[in-house]
Amino acid sequence: MPVMDRNYRRMPVVLKGATRFSDEPQLADELWAVRELKRHQRWLDKLLTDTDLERNWGRPRLPGHWALAYLAFVGSRQVDIEPWWAMSSAEVWLECGFSAKPSYQAVWKRFAELEQTTGAFHEAATLVIRRAVRKSDGKVGRAIHIDATEAETNAVLAHDCRDGEACARQARRRARGLPLRVGRLHADDERARRHARHDKEVEAEDAATAEAMRDVVYDSERSVLRMRRGGCWYRTRDATAGYRIYMQGAHIKKGWFGFLDHKVIDHYTGGTLLHKFEKATVQDYHTYPELLDGVIETLGRTPVAMMADRGLATRSVYELTTRKGIATVIPSRGRRATDQDSYDRHGIPRCRHCGGETHFVRFNHQPTPRLWVRCLIPSQPGCQREQTISCSTDWKRLLPLWRTEPAYAAYRQAHQTYERVHHHQRQRYKVAGDTHAIRPKRIGVGCQQLRANPAGLIEWLRIRHREGWLGCPRTNRDDEFVRTTPGYHGPPPADPAEVPF
Ligand SMILES: [Zn+2]
Ligand SMILES: [Zn+2]
Repeated sequence: MPVMDRNYRRMPVVLKGATRFSDEPQLADELWAVRELKRHQRWLDKLLTDTDLERNWGRPRLPGHWALAYLAFVGSRQVDIEPWWAMSSAEVWLECGFSAKPSYQAVWKRFAELEQTTGAFHEAATLVIRRAVRKSDGKVGRAIHIDATEAETNAVLAHDCRDGEACARQARRRARGLPLRVGRLHADDERARRHARHDKEVEAEDAATAEAMRDVVYDSERSVLRMRRGGCWYRTRDATAGYRIYMQGAHIKKGWFGFLDHKVIDHYTGGTLLHKFEKATVQDYHTYPELLDGVIETLGRTPVAMMADRGLATRSVYELTTRKGIATVIPSRGRRATDQDSYDRHGIPRCRHCGGETHFVRFNHQPTPRLWVRCLIPSQPGCQREQTISCSTDWKRLLPLWRTEPAYAAYRQAHQTYERVHHHQRQRYKVAGDTHAIRPKRIGVGCQQLRANPAGLIEWLRIRHREGWLGCPRTNRDDEFVRTTPGYHGPPPADPAEVPF
């Protein structure tokens, strides 16, 4: 395990161009990742063993590795199996260990079966990522961004009111002669909308959604899920999906049906460390603990800083993050904080002898998270001594990295530039499709996760190739730079915008 530099106040460092794969057209070849993986026997063996359903199910062994074929499929940027299969060359199948191109039916069936082994692709990616952590001297994964985007399921919510069930739509039609239309809600709008609200309002909305979710029944006769929304019943085939809605009064204003793709993104390279697909109804802060444990497991170490947007600005998120010894960088939401006796509105502890400002000495998260400080301008007897305050006094204010630090400002400013990753992931790997054209045509959360995990493996193989961490020379011509903020006089910030291919 690499030595951890846990100086919270160190300015963040970014490796420019690490994911600018468009510089190297050969990386876009669908077989590139397959061939790269085959050069690393240990990683290849791990993936093939963990995805070997023949072995697990006692089926007669057929030549050919379906996991490698799937990797080529994701690398091809095609989302539909049939056109990819039709166009696939003999070379693709030979490279993946097949003697000939299997039938479309066989490909479809075997790819669907791989949904039970999505974890294997992530575990292979974990081996690649951990090596990247070592090769970068612990810079990979030192700071992480957490953000979610929408992913549509290939199923609809069909109106399903039946005779004898009170139907709001009919009532409204009768009243106004208008059909009930539900507009498409995009995750970006949803994010902006939530940010503009106060904690209490968001909690009330979440409670209303949860209340609406109680009217969900499984109709086993028709194999559909029925749910009541805004005075009507709807049915769907995808029981793993959820409906994210935006109510205005008693009416559904906008919504989308499907999932949220929760991502953990590496601040240093911009690579995605982890994807976790959840029903769109599940709130971000409920997914967070699992996401945080998952990324610590992936990296084999604990990050120093975590950035997110206001959707995660809850006390439970702050508490969990600080308890793990990670600095939380989230813009605060709602009412302005007020000064307290023992700390001010920014979370800077006050000197207990003179009431003046203090400066940071250290932070320790074990046995319980505490800050140690010293009086900035000693004037009273006792001011000279080190003082300590427990972060549990106010989890949302007393942080390992103070809000007044240049590093905090740099992290905070950087966060929104990482939202581009959602766009790149859709373009490069068709992960988290948000339109009919790029969403998978199979239903279920397993299919979405199966697209994302191999994408993670391909991405980290590519990053390592560009950085020369695969034993070949570095091909990325850009260098790392230190992020700066206004008022901090360091080198000028480089433009982090990248051109995806
Ligand atoms: Zn109805
Ligand atoms: Zn003092």
